[in-house]
Amino acid sequence: MDRSASLQDYKAGMLLSGVGDALGYRNQLWEYNQSGPVIHKELEELGGLKNITVQLPDWPVSDDTVLHLATAEALATGKEGEELLHEVAFRYVEGMKDMEGRKPGPSSILGVSQLRPGTEGGYRVPYNPEGTGCGAAMRSMCIGLRYPRPEQLSSLVAVAVETGRMTHPHPTGFLGAVAAALFTAYAIQRRPMESWGVGLVKEACPVAKSFVQSQGYAVTETERDWAYFSEKWEWYLEQRGLSNGKGPVIWPEKYGPEERDEAYKSFSLSGWAGRSGHDAPMIALDALLGAGSNWEKLMSRAGFHGGDSDSTAVIACCCWGLLYGLEGVPECNYKKLEYRDRLEKSAEKLYALSH
Ligand SMILES: [Mg+2]
Repeated sequence: MDRSASLQDYKAGMLLSGVGDALGYRNQLWEYNQSGPVIHKELEELGGLKNITVQLPDWPVSDDTVLHLATAEALATGKEGEELLHEVAFRYVEGMKDMEGRKPGPSSILGVSQLRPGTEGGYRVPYNPEGTGCGAAMRSMCIGLRYPRPEQLSSLVAVAVETGRMTHPHPTGFLGAVAAALFTAYAIQRRPMESWGVGLVKEACPVAKSFVQSQGYAVTETERDWAYFSEKWEWYLEQRGLSNGKGPVIWPEKYGPEERDEAYKSFSLSGWAGRSGHDAPMIALDALLGAGSNWEKLMSRAGFHGGDSDSTAVIACCCWGLLYGLEGVPECNYKKLEYRDRLEKSAEKLYALSH
């Protein structure tokens, strides 16, 4: 592909991120609760993906989309610098009031409860060594839509780090936000997917580290806990033959729902696939690499597994929509999605601000 993402692609990216979240969540039934093989069997009983009308009350969006919208709508104001960070913090506080039945994560609840938007430094919270979860990653894709160009990398990283550590001050958590934002920017740039992981580890992570050092906040703790994220990513790239940034991708001989559940667990920090900041984007990339332009394959790999399936799908589907638009996606999957309007409106504003 040689053209960068269009307005329609931006809208598809935001819309499908919400669709992936709602499908992977299935109103609390599928997130974490079932194995990949069981979910695939239940999906078949529902008549397959093409037969699912994603709408309330059975298919609400989860915390991922509520907080992704909060980030997106804050960015869409066009504010920058500290003013933007207060705006994001304000919208996270508001977003947490819309969590009935959406299962927000513990670090998100704790972090947001400590935010004081509007007061000096009120977008920073105390360092949290437990803040390794994927809660920062799952709401950060839109940052790549705001800062899509290669020369905007430092802005993308700064906003992802600062908004990420509003709830996830541990680098394994907030670097997940950098990864999710970076991958959408790469999707918009049409950068070859085989090089996304190397770009994260070799280009974006060093920028993030210098940024952290320049800010003088929790530098010692952050440096202490820094290494795991990049080390695990380097391990993954090695597994897939992507350390050179070129491929070809190496796949396990058999890689169905059962084998993927095992593989995704091996990506994880402590056996919960997709739960952390490093492995939610990792599963998303793995799914994107394997699915190509096939929507059903994408959802099968990114959204229908035994781990944190809504958060891996929300990231993968945002990138997929930016790359392929709505082509091949059954209308019933997105037409009546909760918050469709807000997702598409924020996409329009982010497109206008970045073009
Ligand atoms: Mg969720």
